[in-house]
This record gives sequence, structure tokens and C-alpha cells, in this order.
Amino acid sequence: MDNEAVLILIKPDGLKKSLTGNILTRLSETKLEIVAAKMVRVSEELAHEHYKQLKQEPFFKDLIQYIRGEYHDRRKVMALVYWGEQALQRCRELAGATNPEKAESTSIRGSYGRITTLGVYENVIHVSSDRKEAEREIKLWFCPEEIIVNLFSTKEVEEKAAKKRVWA
Ligand code: UDP
Ligand code: MG
Repeated sequence: MDNEAVLILIKPDGLKKSLTGNILTRLSETKLEIVAAKMVRVSEELAHEHYKQLKQEPFFKDLIQYIRGEYHDRRKVMALVYWGEQALQRCRELAGATNPEKAESTSIRGSYGRITTLGVYENVIHVSSDRKEAEREIKLWFCPEEIIVNLFSTKEVEEKAAKKRVWA
């Protein structure tokens, strides 16, 4: 068995259209395991780092605004890690093509995506493209304690007087 992990984001349009349940149901058909999940308010830095390969694209600025929820009045995304055999291929297939108009009509993007007048593909979910990208993205969005299996090697570091918020 050769398990792999994939980062899935339910983008702000997916949240605004109340598609969370629907998308999770579709993903559950894969029988992959959810090994991490959380809501995230996406900072400018996180958005830039996540999409850094697309920096030169004409739609980059709009893409950053889109993923940060500025077009949908939903300044958050849901981030999940799915894990199992052929996780990447199976999730990419369920998601459908990047361009929602070219995506198969039964796929998630084909069913619910659209192209905006700005030319941005609002395609409801993000799915990592390959193993290398998946590792980079998962490490960017999650820390080791947030994932219930050991996906990648870790190390212990001494935290020096770092402030953190706890329950009052
Ligand atoms: N995107 C876009 N126009 C394009 C290509 C991409 O608006 O011509 C957006 C779209 O939301 C896409 C994201 O940029 O999901 C990341 O692009 P990528 O090529 O990595 O596609 P993905 O891996 O998401 O299918
Ligand atoms: Mg991609």
C-alpha cells in the first residue's frame, strides 16, 4: 500500500454557496481518510506563498483576493488533508479541470464553478497537483500536531519565551 496525502481547500466561493457538506460527501466517495481539518483566515503572506508559482500570471492579484475571500464576503477557507492510496489522482479527478467550463459537468468544479468577469476561475476547491506540491502545501497550511498521522519527518525545537493564546 502506497499512501499519499493531498491538501484540499474549500475556497470562499464554495463556503458562500453552502457547498461544504456536498463537497465533503463527494470526497467521502473516495474512501480516503481525513487526517487534518480546520478553518483558516488566509493572510496575504499565506496566499502569496501558496500560489507562488503563479506570481507572473496576469490574474495573480485577483487570485490572491479571491482566495482571501475578498470577493465573497467570507474571509476564510476550510483546509483539509486527505490521505490514502492514489489520493492525488482521485481527488483531482473528483475536482475536475481547473477551468470550470472545461471540467466534466459531473465533477465538483464542473457542477459549481464559474468564470468571473475579471477572468478568474472560481472553481470551489483547491487540490494539490502532485506529491511534491502536496508536501509543500501541507507543510505551509498545517503544523505537525494538527495532523493525526506522521506524514513527513519532524524535529523538536526549543521554544524561547514565545507568547501564545490559551483559554482564560
Ligand atoms: N486560475 C485562474 N485562471 C487561470 C488559471 C488558474 O483563475 O487561467 C486560478 C484558479 O482558481 C486555479 C488557481 O488559479 O484553481 C490555481 O491555478 P492552477 O493552475 O494551479 O490550477 P489548479 O491546480 O487549481 O487546478
Ligand atoms: Mg495547482
